[in-house]
Amino acid sequence: MLYENIGTTENGHLSFCNLDTVSLAKKYGTPLYLIDENGVRTRCETYKNAMNQYFGPGSFPIYASKALSFKGMYRITAEENIGADVSSGGELYTAIKAGFPPEKIFFHGNNKTEAEISMAMDFGIGFFICDNFWELENINEIAGKKGIRQKVLLRLTPGIDPHTLEAISTGKVDSKFGVAIETGQAEQFVKLALDLENIDLKGYHSHVGSQVFDGKSFVDAAEILLCFAEKIKETYGYTPEYLDLGGGMGVPYFDKDGRIDYVLEIKLIAEKLKAQCKKFNLSMPNIILEPGRSIVADNGITLYTVGGRKEIPGFKNYISIDGGMTDNPRYALYGAIYTVLLANRIKEKPNYVCTVAGRCCESGDLIQENVSLPRPERGDIIAVLTTGAYNYSMASNYNRVPRPPVVMIKDGVDYLAVKRESFEDLIRNDL
Ligand SMILES: *Cc1c(COP(=O)(O)O)cnc(C)c1O
Repeated sequence: MLYENIGTTENGHLSFCNLDTVSLAKKYGTPLYLIDENGVRTRCETYKNAMNQYFGPGSFPIYASKALSFKGMYRITAEENIGADVSSGGELYTAIKAGFPPEKIFFHGNNKTEAEISMAMDFGIGFFICDNFWELENINEIAGKKGIRQKVLLRLTPGIDPHTLEAISTGKVDSKFGVAIETGQAEQFVKLALDLENIDLKGYHSHVGSQVFDGKSFVDAAEILLCFAEKIKETYGYTPEYLDLGGGMGVPYFDKDGRIDYVLEIKLIAEKLKAQCKKFNLSMPNIILEPGRSIVADNGITLYTVGGRKEIPGFKNYISIDGGMTDNPRYALYGAIYTVLLANRIKEKPNYVCTVAGRCCESGDLIQENVSLPRPERGDIIAVLTTGAYNYSMASNYNRVPRPPVVMIKDGVDYLAVKRESFEDLIRNDL
């Protein structure tokens, strides 16, 4: 099987964290998100320990919470003693309400509103990761009114193409995120940050993209940032305390995807970074990484119930499920690949090729095409693997479909972490 938390029960059912997924589907209904809490915690520890060991004690991971955001996730990451990256007022609010320590929160986003900036400062968050000139002036002004000096990292674009999907590649010069080094604008950005009275410049940030399998992208980005840092040091006498290399470590979504040994990657990146710092005659900054997907993706699966089968002679076979783009829009958005299994008949031959379709009024509402399963029957349970990241967090109420619940499994025990939305929830704000 693809992952450690996936297995088979004696009666031929798919198991997740050693629990029978078919029983869980019965207990909670479908669609249903399942999250392996122990797996999430282990991944947090892996990052934390490897970064501490190879980058040094001032270095740490911050969980990019947009990958999977609800109160329970902030409690878990807080207990694991790592930071959190939030990219909206909503994520920030959720983190604070979950009791996440504000000083460990990093606020991202390319258009933070004044209300969000002000709220974040009132909560006393640690760092703003500033995206652009206007925002920097805005943060300075609001900090001034509140009588504080705000810690800030500057988001820079190193001009790296990490060879991932266009929609999730973010480090190129032509990007809506950050300020480019190549154009000379980044230098002006730093100069402004150093000039502004209420800005406490702590370092630089870059994020090359998501689903990156090659640690070299991080090393390349770091090299450009360090080269830039040296130039700034020469010109303005400023040395960064932190270098935040963003998130993006890849996760395998099907058998043929490569595996990533996160510890080994961190070790290799650290070796290269130390060499680069020597070359540029800089002291090694504290390193921050922002893993999102690689904390949660393979620690989650989704269960659905089959409701229909349509066999169109000469064309293809459709299997309709009770969820779709409302709980997992990633195939509709950018053709994301998933492993799909028939959870209640896991030992039968997967010799029936079909398209797994959602229930929304869009032809593009598909979960996956050309999937091989045992020929599904009404009532069978479909499992989609690796849905821990960017599924629940991207879910919508299109067609007024209520969002599924999130059930966590810890030490072999399942518990409800997010309730299923009710129809009443759907009309709560309607006047
Ligand atoms: C999305 C994002 C991340 C997390 O990316 P993953 O691929 O989920 O690890 C980290 N930092 C920033 C700035 C992001 O936009």
